[in-house]
Amino acid sequence: MPRILVTNDDGIYSEGIRKLAETLKAVGDVIIVAPDREQSAASHALTLNRPLRLLQIEENEWIVDGTPTDCVNLGVLKLMKETRPDIVVSGINFGANLGDDVTYSGTISAAFEGALLHIPSIALSAVVGEHFSFDGSVQFAVGLVRWALEHQRDPGVILNVNFPVAAPAGVRITKLGRRIYTEGVIERMDPRGRAYYWIGGGAPSWHPGEGTDFEAIQAGYISITPLHLDLTHHDSIPRLKPLEELLAADASR
Ligand code: MN
Repeated sequence: MPRILVTNDDGIYSEGIRKLAETLKAVGDVIIVAPDREQSAASHALTLNRPLRLLQIEENEWIVDGTPTDCVNLGVLKLMKETRPDIVVSGINFGANLGDDVTYSGTISAAFEGALLHIPSIALSAVVGEHFSFDGSVQFAVGLVRWALEHQRDPGVILNVNFPVAAPAGVRITKLGRRIYTEGVIERMDPRGRAYYWIGGGAPSWHPGEGTDFEAIQAGYISITPLHLDLTHHDSIPRLKPLEELLAADASR
């Protein structure tokens, strides 16, 4: 049986991870290592400034008082040290992880951590709306994880999957869309007359773009975007090359 490490950023008690883990038992041995509370937008944070606790709450189920990235590290490097997982599955997140927002996502960072540990990894997120249900998404996840165990050969590339609210029209392989940020920070006054701020107030909107994850979701499709961690902008390397000469004197001061 393949070993499946399941984690998320909504926390161990979220419906998305409960249903996902339960359904994936049809595919392999499921080990859950998840944050003990919600860690959405935790991004790729790793806890280095305090001790972490790993608490077993069921057979094959552990909670960590840390981030999704902490969970994958403790899962792979401690709990499953002798029997590494064959795949890391993160989610299903309650809410989309599309376009530029992937950089904040704890759901996706957990999958990237799997990739850094050379394990094929998948991030799953569901768009929230009226008549929301995880049921169709978890069924799709079973088929996708089965496929990935057979065919996802390059662990450096993760799959970022987003489910539309309604029954999907099909599947689209996509690229990341671009977010339009409106009214990014809201200012209010607290009862003592001091300003406080709330980030992300405006309704999200997106630049229209063909082949993007956003377009696929808008059209009612499941979006699958292959992502990798190489943040190097290769085209800029030759353009910036003259700086080596230009700033050489400053560097040797
Ligand atoms: Mn979340």
